[in-house]
Amino acid sequence: MVPGVRLVVLGKQGAGKGTQCVRLSHHYVVPHVSTGDMLRGEVKSRTPLGQRAKALMDQGELISDELVMEMVGLRLREKDTRARGFILDGCPRTIAQAEELADIVAPDHLDLVIDLDVPTAMVLGRLASRRVCMDCGANYSTSSPPLTNWTCDVCGGEVVQREDDTEEAIRRRLELYERQTSPLIDWYQHHDLLMSVDGTGTPDAVTTRCVQAIDDRRTKPVTSP
Ligand SMILES: [Zn+2]
Repeated sequence: MVPGVRLVVLGKQGAGKGTQCVRLSHHYVVPHVSTGDMLRGEVKSRTPLGQRAKALMDQGELISDELVMEMVGLRLREKDTRARGFILDGCPRTIAQAEELADIVAPDHLDLVIDLDVPTAMVLGRLASRRVCMDCGANYSTSSPPLTNWTCDVCGGEVVQREDDTEEAIRRRLELYERQTSPLIDWYQHHDLLMSVDGTGTPDAVTTRCVQAIDDRRTKPVTSP
């Protein structure tokens, strides 16, 4: 039997984080706990938490850290994640959240925090060439467009460049991410939990590197939160 894992995956937008999380969740047979997916699910099924999130979004407010951590806390205390672990995606974003996460997971601890490292120039290229269906959200790019004329292969909707996908806007988002995340990266490094993994190359190659990093880690003693 493959042992489970308690893993956090960090990475800037366009680094392929979502893809790798799904692959790792299959490999280790643990849930992929994505805060973005969970929030959408809560809103869609109108849970009390989803209704609070929706009220914030309707007012144009950001979803608070507290609400996100509450949701993550509930999910990570369920039986499946308690027993085998999780691949956490989208959280933590701050040191305070990382401390709270350690409390949620206790008396267990994280096995590893993977920082998927892709050069900014490469991510910029990927994001700037991205095109998306306005109706169903299917992803395309200038190098792999829909079969006919920017009409979605899946639903027939219009395929466009998102307004916030201009190079200028992408660059700003990436800078903001670096600024916000670097203290968190330092913190995990300090606690000897961080492993930077080269996120370039094929998805298969990146998954192999991640699995290697995780499996290597298991053979070493862990000291921290
Ligand atoms: Zn579509």
